[in-house]
This record gives sequence, structure tokens and C-alpha cells, in this order.
Amino acid sequence: MAVWLLMGPPGVGKGTAAALVCARAGCRHVSTGDLLRAAVKARTPLGLEAEQVMGRGELVSDDLMFALLEDEWRQRGDVLLDGFPRTRGQAERLETRLGTGDSGIRGAIGLEAPEAVIRARLEGRRVCRNCGATFHIRFRPPSRGGVCDRCGGVLEQRPDDRPEAVRRRLEVFAEQRAVLEPYYRQRGLYHAVEATGEPDSIAARILAVLGKPWE
Ligand code: AMP
Repeated sequence: MAVWLLMGPPGVGKGTAAALVCARAGCRHVSTGDLLRAAVKARTPLGLEAEQVMGRGELVSDDLMFALLEDEWRQRGDVLLDGFPRTRGQAERLETRLGTGDSGIRGAIGLEAPEAVIRARLEGRRVCRNCGATFHIRFRPPSRGGVCDRCGGVLEQRPDDRPEAVRRRLEVFAEQRAVLEPYYRQRGLYHAVEATGEPDSIAARILAVLGKPWE
């Protein structure tokens, strides 16, 4: 199992790009944010512990995150890990757990976009309450306002996509990036990828880094 890390600010389009990339490259998209939201929805002990912290846009504890991820390492196939690690402590512990190279951490992809683009993407994002599908009121509107195209569920704004939490999440990300980018650069594992333009173009740039060109 090789693990590629997908990094970038909230709203840069990690989830959208990861879905496209994994459909082409046959990897598994593991988003720690999605895992946590699923745990919250299912009211598991882990989810209940995470809920308050997430609502404030703060980071959930490392022990909780590693417990959540342990299940993922037991499954087969390459992983595109989205939203993890976010601290040096997580990066070090992940490296201890998985190692680097073909059967461990293969590389870190840092998606980059101007802050104005990111804010516009976050403000308009709407997520299906039922199946988790993502839409955007301007860039990817559902065919019927407020209703999911995939399952007919109700679309809503994530609590942490509200302006106050967004501001906090962007600050938190800037701190993370200052730590993680040099961490992976020093190991020769960091690849910056421009995340502006159409989702297909962004996915194609990521696939090129993975050595699996768009066909
Ligand atoms: P995301 O959907 O990736 O923006 O994640 C949503 C929220 O889940 C974050 O604001 C954090 O509260 C929590 N979260 C996701 N990934 C991590 C992580 N690696 N470490 C700690 N908290 C996380």
C-alpha cells in the first residue's frame, strides 16, 4: 500500500480533485474530515468527542485521529489521504506507522490557490445531508435548488463553512503549511500543484505527479 498525502487549505478543492484522481488511478480517497463527519453523524463515541472541536474549526486530538485511521491501513490498495497530517506531531507519527517509499508515504501533494478563490469556493459550498455529495451554488449548482442530484437529500452549509469558522480554519492552515511543507520538502517528497481552473485540469496535474497521466 502506497499513501499519497493531499494537502492544501480548506476549500482549495481537495475532495473534488481526489474523487476525480481516484476514479482514474484506482486509489482509495480517504478524507479525515469525511471520516469524522461520518462518525459525528453515527453518534459514535469518537464522533461525539470530535463534534464540538470541529464546530469551532479547531483540530481534533492526535490519538482520536490515529484511532480513526487504523481501520484504513488494514484495507488493500493505494490511498490518497486528504486532510492528514496537519501537524508535525501527526507527520512524525504517521511516518513511524507507515514508513516512506513504495509501501508507505510516497509523496505529499500541496494544492495551491489564491485566498479569494478559496473563500468563494467555501462560501458557496453546499453538502447533501444524506449522502455527503458536494455542490456549489455558483460553480456546480444542483439542478433543483437546495436538493441533491444524487439522492434527493437536503443540501446544507457545513457549520465550519460559515465565515467565522472559515477565518479560523484558514489561519490554522497557514500555521500547518509553515510546518508541513518544509517537513516533506526536506525528505524530497513535496510536490506543489496549482489548484486553479477546472477540476479536470487540477486532477490531471495531480495524476502527472502520481505518474499516471490523464488518458
Ligand atoms: P476538513 O473537512 O478536512 O476541512 O476537516 C474538517 C474538520 O475535521 C477540521 O476542521 C478538524 O476539526 C477535523 N480534522 C480533519 N482532519 C484532521 C486532522 N488531520 N487532525 C485534526 N483534526 C482534523
